[in-house]
Amino acid sequence: MSGNEVYSPSTEFSSQAHVGSMEAYQELYRRAEADPEGFWAQQAESEVHWFEKWSHVYEWHPPFVKWFVGAKTNAAYNCLDRHLETRGDKPAIIFEGEPGDQKTLTYRELHAAVGQFSNVLKSRGFQAGDRAIVYMPMIPEAIVAMLACARLGIIHSVVFGGFSAEALKARILDLDASLVLTADGGWRRGKEVKLKGAVDEAVKDCPGIKDVLVYRRTGGECPMNEGRDHWWHDLLPGVSPDCPAEELDSEHPLFVLYTSGTTGKPKGILHTTGGYLTYVASTMKWVFDLKENDIYWCTADIGWVTGHSYIVYGPLACGATCLVYEGAPDFPAWDRWWDIVERHKATILYTSPTAIRALIKQGDEYPNKHDLSSLRLLGSVGEPINPAAWDWYYRVIGKSRSPIVDTWWQTETGGILIAPMPGAVPLKPGSGTLPMPGVLTDVVDFYGEKVAPGAEGFLIIRRPWPSMIRTIWGDPERFEQQYFSRMPGIYFTGDAARRDEDGYFWVLGRVDDVMNVSGHRLSTMEVESALVRHPAVAEAAVVGKPHEITGQAVCCFVSLKQGNWDHGVLGKELRQWVAHEIGAFARPEEIRFAESLPKTRSGKIMRRLLREIVTSNTVTGDVTTLEDLGVVTRLSAQHDED
Ligand code: ATP
Ligand code: MG
Repeated sequence: MSGNEVYSPSTEFSSQAHVGSMEAYQELYRRAEADPEGFWAQQAESEVHWFEKWSHVYEWHPPFVKWFVGAKTNAAYNCLDRHLETRGDKPAIIFEGEPGDQKTLTYRELHAAVGQFSNVLKSRGFQAGDRAIVYMPMIPEAIVAMLACARLGIIHSVVFGGFSAEALKARILDLDASLVLTADGGWRRGKEVKLKGAVDEAVKDCPGIKDVLVYRRTGGECPMNEGRDHWWHDLLPGVSPDCPAEELDSEHPLFVLYTSGTTGKPKGILHTTGGYLTYVASTMKWVFDLKENDIYWCTADIGWVTGHSYIVYGPLACGATCLVYEGAPDFPAWDRWWDIVERHKATILYTSPTAIRALIKQGDEYPNKHDLSSLRLLGSVGEPINPAAWDWYYRVIGKSRSPIVDTWWQTETGGILIAPMPGAVPLKPGSGTLPMPGVLTDVVDFYGEKVAPGAEGFLIIRRPWPSMIRTIWGDPERFEQQYFSRMPGIYFTGDAARRDEDGYFWVLGRVDDVMNVSGHRLSTMEVESALVRHPAVAEAAVVGKPHEITGQAVCCFVSLKQGNWDHGVLGKELRQWVAHEIGAFARPEEIRFAESLPKTRSGKIMRRLLREIVTSNTVTGDVTTLEDLGVVTRLSAQHDED
């Protein structure tokens, strides 16, 4: 593993940071570890408005936890009303549509829009505890929809607009939802991506749905179902923007979000209100070092947990200005993101390794055409970031000036658990570095014993934290079985990791993604990072394939940068390259070249499918979250030709 380089925070950065030294970080960590109740009570007081205070800070009956027991609060109130006095005229959302349309909503305007839409929902009979699906493009109204639900205590479940009718239907039925908030469509690569048709198809088998409310975004053709469907703009005129926020229990469900399904059937992860808000607001300041005048841009879709915690609830609870962009990074050209950064003077950029690798593939001339000097902090989330990609992000985008916060977390964790506080913690490319205060992470073996520094094991968390998953919707047994059955009372992340001599965490990927080759444990991610370091390689996915002699053999899927490559020659070279970079035992048995790799719609490589392809050449698992089924068909077919 690479990671010899260490990047200490500059004095310039540290001197203005919320947490400006390693000692300050360690002091926070120690305090939270010694006195979690006192520590989190203090964070809850400073970051969240409460209508009523708690009787006790937390109650832990493994695997079930409650935070700020008996307290009353409201997420939308915290994101809006609380800021009116001091930040009423500050932009909350700066929106840019793919066609180039722009719209800015100040906190006062966003508050009014949410209040008015809340009143619409209320007048149509929706109330606290009901479930609403949000199936919308990345436009401000999607955020309005989420916050209006939160204001009334309606539990929202955002379904990414790229999901099919089938996936949508499964989620509606699992939740027994009664309301769908959607749009005619959205813009992507200059084309209209229709949404309403999928809703119609899904809802025809969902008798529980009472209303489908449709925002007009594209103006394209959009059949409406008399009685059930209503145009958003028809419902607003004459409705008051004044809608008091419901005073909800701290444990009132805020949302259910289905995980991306990299490993299997999607699970409905339930998050609640008070602890979640406390945690996302705290980490917003610790990790992104958020300041009053930052222009913060997270490129995720609100259909993912990153969008929930670090586009909507975290930033707005902190009163931040957020950029929201609707469309594709390559429309009209591959410099769209850099153009946005330059024009809006973004100061913080938070994106994913898969996006970074796609941008690298296009070449440096795109970022180099633009003035990126407003950026002061970069973030990464979703997968381990290969050191080669880290290096490009650091040099070409951050001009070797902006720290990179590599944030490890999960839909289940609600917020970032492992990441550097950028003014305090020295960076090592490829490592998420150290845990947040109050997060007792460790790496253990099969029996739950801590492993030695440098050894690989299971990443676990020993104590509940405020934004922890509360249950899997409708399936508490699966919840316990999935996360708490291996070591009672200890949260099992499902990821493999190492901790180095400095206590830094190196997440190696999912436990299932660790191979065993001739008795050596080898993470797929290490081989991928080695491949990505080769100048011809844009992306790589590695899986283990059963092998009579070595137990497992290393099998690589590689997509190449632009150029004329001889696959035969390059295949040999890459096998040699990996053997040289990692060791002879890691020499790939097979290199397959692929135009693209199978990914979830959130951009993660689905190794589970590749494993099936290399072992049986068929795919039987759940593929509803796959971005492009054609990729799998092509990869399977390619083998048949071999
Ligand atoms: P499913 O659980 O349904 O298979 P998923 O795990 O891909 O889907 P998420 O909750 O979005 O869904 O992703 C969390 C996982 O992503 C983590 O468990 C980890 O494997 C990976 N991950 C996220 N961020 C990082 C990071 N910074 N470094 C390494 N791995 C990361
Ligand atoms: Mg997961």
